[in-house]
Amino acid sequence: MLTNSFDDYKLSDDIKRALSVLKYDTPTEVQREVLPLALQNQDLVVKSQTGSGKTAAFGIPICENIAWEEKKPQALILTPTRELAAQVREDITNIGRFKRIKAVAVYGKEPFSKQREELKHKTHVVVGTPGRVIDHIDRGTLLLDEIKYLIIDEADEMLSMGFIDDIEAIIQALPTNRVTMVFSATLPTDVEKLCYKYMMTPTNIEIASTGIVTNTVDHLIIETQEEDKISLLKDVTTVENPDSCIIFCRTKEHVDTVFAELETSGYSCEKLHGGLLQEDRFAVMNGFKTGNFRYLVATDVAARGIDVDNVTLILNFDVPTEKESYVHRTGRTGRAGNKGKAITFATAHEEKFVKSIERYIGFEIRMMDAPEQAEVARNMPAFQEKSSGRRVVKNNKTARINQDIMKLHFSGGKKKKIRAVDFVGTIAKIEGVSAEDIGIITIKDTMSYVDILNGKGSLVLQEMKDATIKGKKLKVSKAIK
Ligand code: AMP
Repeated sequence: MLTNSFDDYKLSDDIKRALSVLKYDTPTEVQREVLPLALQNQDLVVKSQTGSGKTAAFGIPICENIAWEEKKPQALILTPTRELAAQVREDITNIGRFKRIKAVAVYGKEPFSKQREELKHKTHVVVGTPGRVIDHIDRGTLLLDEIKYLIIDEADEMLSMGFIDDIEAIIQALPTNRVTMVFSATLPTDVEKLCYKYMMTPTNIEIASTGIVTNTVDHLIIETQEEDKISLLKDVTTVENPDSCIIFCRTKEHVDTVFAELETSGYSCEKLHGGLLQEDRFAVMNGFKTGNFRYLVATDVAARGIDVDNVTLILNFDVPTEKESYVHRTGRTGRAGNKGKAITFATAHEEKFVKSIERYIGFEIRMMDAPEQAEVARNMPAFQEKSSGRRVVKNNKTARINQDIMKLHFSGGKKKKIRAVDFVGTIAKIEGVSAEDIGIITIKDTMSYVDILNGKGSLVLQEMKDATIKGKKLKVSKAIK
């Protein structure tokens, strides 16, 4: 079936509205293949690469099929990295925004207690890395008896990172009458074995039209010497003058050096590697998404899970030693039909890695010459002009979907026996406001938060100043996020 619009699927208005705000107008190929089957709760094994729209391919049916009233988690999504878990949580929250789907991410290096608190509240979807998911299961803080969907995302990566035992342990703890969907860029035998063992006659879907790397990216290589890389980097960035760029290095030390060099030269840049605190890593990633800086210098930590719509240029300062890593790095650009460029700096010593990458991706990466000094000089004024301005983010999906939302803080919660229905009952009675305008409600012991959608926040704030909830007068204010 060839479908050109999300209207062709049986989706509720809440989901369709979110897709329209996200500007998902036409389903991508993987979505066209997966949606009809996933909406009918079939087990699926899907071979598709990052950037193909696979998160929404499972996110849309999950959000659609979830019963909002149920308090316990109904979907569990496993991802190989913390960054990807955070990204998937954000995507699910965006798709489910108007249905008020609550998604929680759980991963290591973040306090267990914070996640335990989150999981105590109504949670529809849990996204997590295997180790931390097991911790929560073992300690009884993640309840599994209502899980209807298990998604294993980037299964090949997860298995190559050695998570097989963890994944099997999680699967065995889940209800058997669930739907399982496995997404993987490649299907090595260990992934196939896993699927065979735990899935009910799954349907195989292979997204064949693109190769392992997307054809929206121009792949280039420049031969250089190690000691010339920094000046080559400055020349290339001047000539390319990208709106946004990720510079990938092999080690933390290289990241530190390259970052220091660029910062001294006045580049708008930040760095990201595994040696930074998780909190700082998220802050840097969010800063990059919102356009606070133009150049991100990173190790492979950032090769997954960064979803910034307009990364226009990927620079491999070092050739990745793992061929898969090349695919993930370059997959950060040319996403969702946009054009992108990936330039790799290669020394003679790195030749063997290049060859292995080329065998893996199935084509030779085109050689290009280092820019001539005259060309650099010619491009300098434009480069300097762009450097002096702030990066404009054209398409921050989360900001767009949240733009009409105001979070209100109420000075009472569980201790006053207040429940979500009490808020809905009172707020929906305000003239001009309906239950549709109420978003996620979070009730804590002594306070509550209510998201008001559709630009009606000020109206509700005003009206609630004099109203009572369950006969109690609560202080209401705009929440500080
Ligand atoms: P993914 O493969 O899930 O990492 O998604 C790649 C990118 O495509 C993300 O930026 C998504 O937000 C975006 N995307 C997913 N589905 C669509 C769609 N139908 N139309 C436009 N963009 C999409």
